[in-house]
Amino acid sequence: MPDSILEKAYYRSPIFLQNLAFSSYGLYLRRKRFWNGFSKNLERLRETEWWSASKIAQFQEQKFVEVVRHAYETVPFYRNLYDLHGVNIDQIKSLADAYKLPTITKVDIKNNLAGLVSAQYSGCRLMRQLTSGTTGTPLTVSLTKQALNLQWAIWWRHKSRFGLCPGDRHLVFGARVPVGVNQRKPPYWRRDYINNRDYLSTYHISRRNARTIADYLNSEEFSFYTGYPSAIYDLAYLLDEKGFEITSRPNWIVSGSDSLVPRYERLISRVFGAPVTEQYGMTEFAGNISKCEKGNFHVDFECGLVEVEGGNAAEGGALILTGWGNPAMPFIRYRIGDAAVPLSGSCDCGRQSFCFSQIEGRLEDYVVTPDGRRVTGMNQVFEYVTNAIEMQVYQEQLDLIEVRVVPGPNFGARDKDEFTREFRRRAGSEMAIKFRMVSSIDRSQSGKIKAVISDVSTEGSLQSS
Ligand SMILES: [Zn+2]
Repeated sequence: MPDSILEKAYYRSPIFLQNLAFSSYGLYLRRKRFWNGFSKNLERLRETEWWSASKIAQFQEQKFVEVVRHAYETVPFYRNLYDLHGVNIDQIKSLADAYKLPTITKVDIKNNLAGLVSAQYSGCRLMRQLTSGTTGTPLTVSLTKQALNLQWAIWWRHKSRFGLCPGDRHLVFGARVPVGVNQRKPPYWRRDYINNRDYLSTYHISRRNARTIADYLNSEEFSFYTGYPSAIYDLAYLLDEKGFEITSRPNWIVSGSDSLVPRYERLISRVFGAPVTEQYGMTEFAGNISKCEKGNFHVDFECGLVEVEGGNAAEGGALILTGWGNPAMPFIRYRIGDAAVPLSGSCDCGRQSFCFSQIEGRLEDYVVTPDGRRVTGMNQVFEYVTNAIEMQVYQEQLDLIEVRVVPGPNFGARDKDEFTREFRRRAGSEMAIKFRMVSSIDRSQSGKIKAVISDVSTEGSLQSS
């Protein structure tokens, strides 16, 4: 609802009209996401996930070579980049040749948006989607309708592993604002009749509203909850603190967009009485990775190739993604800024696709130490601070960090000591640490909380490998 007059009219209208307006928006989303081949895609994906390792490798190789050629021939950005690096495109014949292509970063994407759309799609109607971006500037990504349908089919294949079906009644913890932020009376949720979902306003999750939201959850029968783990965790924390029990339990909780840290997972699962699963996806559709029934992350190979920097070393490395699901704006050897640890051995679920045991916090989320190291894993440090509701590290200068804390009622000196000890274990003792209590931590436009915001950065652009 970008039009502010329309937006004001929406917020002023009675709740039932807001629900109708929200449902008509739901119809628009449904047309975008689920028509035009979604069901066929889903059916096919449920077969291909059981392919043999050799069939998967053969498929990926063919798609990789095709998308690189397509990019070179029709996308100005890649033609310039590969010419600049002296890449002979005829020599890209297999996955083993991938290293010959330079990697790209979000900065490159941001600086070359116009040149990233394939000439083959100029004049075609493309879907424009916003990504959260890492610098606070969202990127606009152009996707074909087929790409969006494939992406939603991949997301639904993940849910189908847990017995969930499109059309199941569910609750969304998202970043949209379906309820005016100044509204002080329930309901703090809106209904989308078309997609059989309710949308909870995450901006209304507060101590004051905890009882109302608990009563609402208990009066409904949701098959699953889905959305930002940080928002679901916030609610779980408040319900737990107040001792409000959830008696009408969902079957599953599907986490996405943010990393699901173990501390979040444990509390969410306990408070809502349901297991939690997650998938790793992105608006750019440069790839996708989804958990299986055994809790491991499988590469959704049908839409892309996932490389790990430094080979498949046991300690893991940065992810480099190549996606062929969206030919209108392909991402080739894209350093998304996340890292993952490959699973040693094969997964017990029987799927042969490449598998990770862990996907780690964003690589941008690092603190730079005075001796030049980049220290990640702040989410793990936060694990030790048991009485904080939310935390963030802000690094303004090389020798000082500010720890922003939304304190729980029992937060105290011990929590600060725990943080300091764990932080120093990772980053050393050269940096000063100051704590700042805040009432909330800013979320990015897409609703994410960054573990670390650093003004001290050594990130370069257009890195080549
Ligand atoms: Zn598995």
